Amino acid sequence: MSVSTDPSPSPFTHEDYGSRMARSGDAARAVGLDGLIVTPGPDLVWLTGYRPTAITERLTMLVIVPGHRPTLLVPALERPDAEAADGAPVLEIVDWTDGTDPYQVARDLVSPEAEYGISDSTWAMHVLGLQRTMRATAYRALTECLPMLRAVKDAAELTRLAAAGAAADATYQEIVHLRFAGRRESEVAADLARLLTEFGHEQVDFTVVGSGPNGANPHHEAGERVIGEGDMVVLDFGGLRYGYGSDTTRTVVVGEPTPEQHRVHDIVREAQSAAFEAVRPGVACQEIDRVARAVITEAGYGEQFLHRTGHGIGVTTHEPPYMVEGEEQPLRPGMCFSIEPGIYLAGRFGVRIEDIVTVTPEGGARLNNTDHGLRVVE
Ligand code: ZN
Ligand code: ZN
Ligand code: ZN
Repeated sequence: MSVSTDPSPSPFTHEDYGSRMARSGDAARAVGLDGLIVTPGPDLVWLTGYRPTAITERLTMLVIVPGHRPTLLVPALERPDAEAADGAPVLEIVDWTDGTDPYQVARDLVSPEAEYGISDSTWAMHVLGLQRTMRATAYRALTECLPMLRAVKDAAELTRLAAAGAAADATYQEIVHLRFAGRRESEVAADLARLLTEFGHEQVDFTVVGSGPNGANPHHEAGERVIGEGDMVVLDFGGLRYGYGSDTTRTVVVGEPTPEQHRVHDIVREAQSAAFEAVRPGVACQEIDRVARAVITEAGYGEQFLHRTGHGIGVTTHEPPYMVEGEEQPLRPGMCFSIEPGIYLAGRFGVRIEDIVTVTPEGGARLNNTDHGLRVVE
């Protein structure tokens, strides 16, 4: 099954944002919270369409309380930007001016003895400012109390994620025709960034080129190492298109692979495929990790699979749900996440294969569709 990739989806409307805010308020109430406090970042973008041009020390916060109109507190100088956000028509916008105490203004929006879910990434200075001003108010980290808030995507979001995936696939189809041997990782990374942009990404988030021993470090980005004949090269790249993320990995080899390179690649490929086949509604997230890990462990490389199997994706490239041991949340139709098992042989090479998949009523659907075979490049 495939997901359609509308080349230019229409923007989200204020009704879309209004419905997200209403659902989020209901979800907060369902877990015993009085409301939500959301500061700039992915949750604010998803809820309101508002992305301040810079995230600064000036307090910006959205307060959602079920049954009340959501209120966005902004610095006065940023009010015109906030009013231009797609979700603005359903918001009450309140501002504060330099030289006044924003936490005193916030006091009018926050109930003194209530408990709020608050963005994970709210600056400590703001949390401390709120606590100093309202000593009886309590807070819980948003992903701790509502981990699945943004996890289930609607059709319009899926269209964007599929479009981002298609652009990442087009990038891979091009990069394998370019030269690897004799070039620096950073040069190949620059090509990946250029191609992602050419294929419609407005933002490039990462361009991993891990050649030879660098591929054995899952956090290596790209450096000055010159790629040589016989190198395995991990290519992991993505960013945002129409505001939604792409993230795909393929591992290529420069010239003919050794039997060991081929074998390790086959194991990762089998693990990725087995985990994908396990995707269906109701299966726990940790089960996807277990299925991938079992294949790699049985092949003798369990110790060399250094990370969880996957992460959610949406308006950011890493978000819940996480495909990791201990995550018991069930998969639900509309969830989108990566399946990216890997094997990392320290000092030698690494292999990772990653696709974004979405859950449908019948099972998984891939948003990345390039070949999983070990591709030989020059
Ligand atoms: Zn990735
Ligand atoms: Zn990923
Ligand atoms: Zn093979």
